[in-house]
Amino acid sequence: MVRFSKDTSQIREASIISAIAVLLSFAITGSLYILFFGFDERFWGAMALAITVPWGISIPLSFYMSKQRRKVALVAMRLKEARQKLRDANKTLEHKASYDGLTGLFNREHFLAEFEQRRMASSANVLLIIDADHFKDINDGYGHPIGDKALILISTVFKRMLRKDDLVGRIGGEEFGILLPDTVEAEGEIIAEMIRHEIESIIFEPQKNVRHRMTVSIGITGVSPHHERALPMRNADTALFEAKRRGRNQCVLYKPGMRSKPRPFYEAAGPLKRVVRSA
Ligand code: GH3
Ligand code: MG
Ligand code: MG
Repeated sequence: MVRFSKDTSQIREASIISAIAVLLSFAITGSLYILFFGFDERFWGAMALAITVPWGISIPLSFYMSKQRRKVALVAMRLKEARQKLRDANKTLEHKASYDGLTGLFNREHFLAEFEQRRMASSANVLLIIDADHFKDINDGYGHPIGDKALILISTVFKRMLRKDDLVGRIGGEEFGILLPDTVEAEGEIIAEMIRHEIESIIFEPQKNVRHRMTVSIGITGVSPHHERALPMRNADTALFEAKRRGRNQCVLYKPGMRSKPRPFYEAAGPLKRVVRSA
């Protein structure tokens, strides 16, 4: 059933359509009547019908059409809103896939993918791997949420100190990677030292009136496009291991022949062999 709304635009539209319908009906019926029957006493009776019938049909019909049009517009608007929501959800998903939720830095996968691309762009780059020293003590001493705060503080140092083109990511729990593009090793050592010093200077108060000195160890290595894919990470890791071995809170540049980190026993042993028992 058609219900009449008080919408003025709807009323205006219905009036215009009915007026056109009435005028057309008046003109066509009048002309045809005179053509076939001539002007006689029944002419005005026929014209009264020619006016009221289209009027009676066109008014409710135009209200109905206008209502349907509004419904379509509403559906289109909802569809647009749903599409926008989907776009926002995709953006959030993309962000989650590339960024670390705690620090806002790139996550390991994204860092490594970007690292591979960026190191090809320049003949001299430097990779730093930064690992927080004795981080377990913070968690054990003050709790995991305080440990999280410490990681956020460390990451703010990177955000503050690095250049726009430098690449930084959280590549492990309390481990970070930095690629310094267009940088030679000597410059990389200076930047690493500045980062180490800045982190050591953070005023970190895990509890009221308790100051905890945070330090990091940094492994440094030169990176060039012709290096085998895994080599820079391995070399920086070896240099980091050396920094830890020398007592932590220091930066070490990778040198060939440096003792590398012993592999965990399950990696060193190779794949497990299946034992086949004979009956
Ligand atoms: P080292 O100087 O040899 O690096 O000692 P460490 O204690 O830093 O190293 P270890 O690998 O023994 O411990 C790392 C700790 O980092 C253990 C783990 O619970 C903690 N950790 C890793 N990810 C997170 C995190 O997201 N939040 C917090 N609060 N702690 C984390
Ligand atoms: Mg550590
Ligand atoms: Mg670590």
